[in-house]
Amino acid sequence: MLGLPIENHEAVGIMTLSYARDVLRVHACCTLLVCAKKRQATALLNAAHRAAAEAWGRRFA
Ligand SMILES: [Zn+2]
Repeated sequence: MLGLPIENHEAVGIMTLSYARDVLRVHACCTLLVCAKKRQATALLNAAHRAAAEAWGRRFA
């Protein structure tokens, strides 16, 4: 994506949810402390899960 290999540890400008899942798989051995890309992917997926949980709660509240 955007010309950078997924193995690169730098954060990217735009990250999709499916790309974030691939990042977590490829960077499984990285620590969040040293890997900006894994940090970004983790934050994105956490936010997505939180948003989904809130939408789910609103629907059945
Ligand atoms: Zn990494």
